[in-house]
Amino acid sequence: MQKILVSGGAGFIGSHTVLELLSAGYKVIVFDNLSNSNRESLERVQKLSGRTIEFHKIDLLDKESLGKLFRDQRFDAVIHFAGLKAVGESVEKPLLYYQNNVAGTLNLCECMIEAGLKQLVFSSSATVYGDPESSPIPEENPLKAVNPYGATKLIIENILRDLYQSDPEWKIALLRYFNPVGAHESGEIGEDPNGIPNNLMPFVTQVAVGQREKLRVFGNDYPTKDGTGVRDYIHVKDLAKGHLKALEKISGEKGLHVYNLGTGSGSSVIEVINAFEKATGLKIPYEITERRPGDAATCFADVSKAKRELGWSTEKDLYDMCRDAWNWQQKNPDGYPH
Ligand code: NAD
Ligand code: UDP
Repeated sequence: MQKILVSGGAGFIGSHTVLELLSAGYKVIVFDNLSNSNRESLERVQKLSGRTIEFHKIDLLDKESLGKLFRDQRFDAVIHFAGLKAVGESVEKPLLYYQNNVAGTLNLCECMIEAGLKQLVFSSSATVYGDPESSPIPEENPLKAVNPYGATKLIIENILRDLYQSDPEWKIALLRYFNPVGAHESGEIGEDPNGIPNNLMPFVTQVAVGQREKLRVFGNDYPTKDGTGVRDYIHVKDLAKGHLKALEKISGEKGLHVYNLGTGSGSSVIEVINAFEKATGLKIPYEITERRPGDAATCFADVSKAKRELGWSTEKDLYDMCRDAWNWQQKNPDGYPH
């Protein structure tokens, strides 16, 4: 049985991926500093899967404890989710982001080298495409960071590329996620944002549950189908499954492989509201406001490479994403118990 070490496995995407890994028969060891998550997510994953998860509360920046984890047991691969991800916070506290995400990843890579382990799947982001000139965006598109969070993703991608150049024994997958939303269909695990959500879908579900009065739609004068911003929303379960495909790919093939993980089609904010209303039977009050600074008009993926090379494509549509996000929100109006 392959042993996979998952950093940040208690978080939103990590917990869904851990569940898929367990269901596929992998043994899973998670470490997380719980700075943006809760142990309860993994308790629930254990219940859903009927399997146990070995958990270590370790910070990426604590190289001593991280090194010990790698000395105490052998892993077959690492999936690296751990990182801070709030764009606005990264503008206010850039050094925190460079320290946590970049220095943290350096620590992880150094521990892997000491342990002789060279298989890594990394959570990158469509943010590395900056303000894309056109969509669908292929992996070869020029890359550009437009905020410190994005810069950390780009720097880490470059570090991993250099690492592979220095030692072609490495097997690395850089997965560029588009807009992960939704939740496991059980409603037991989902996204549990801190404070006021920045992202569209958790904001919509909080309006629906009555925690917020109305949604603000950031601009309706973009050059898009209805003037509102267009994004490639991907169900977190489809995204999680993409990680298993990436693991299979790198276990058989050395190299540095880059994949977009999205659906390949874009939805506007108005389309998300309509899909949510259809999936739930609820009305989402909204008002049109100013554009949010830094927002691209349109961003959706060219997913042909992942389809061709990983045999992966998404199965769930926007309706499923809205239904499952709402199911999670309804069952857990305040997120995980704290
Ligand atoms: P999340 O915050 O729910 O999960 C990240 C996890 O990492 C959390 O459990 C947090 O406690 C942990 N963590 C953070 N810093 C750590 C550290 N120093 N040491 C140990 N653990 C640490 O976020 P998520 O949405 O699940 O995102 C997972 C990864 O995917 C992140 O790297 C994120 O940047 C990337 N990503 C997310 C999105 C998105 O929209 N959710 C999009 C693109 C890429
Ligand atoms: N958006 C919005 N109101 C909100 C949050 C987001 O209108 O409260 C819009 C945003 O302008 C963008 C889309 O919804 O067009 C997706 O935003 P999100 O922050 O979820 O993802 P990102 O912009 O980072 O891709």
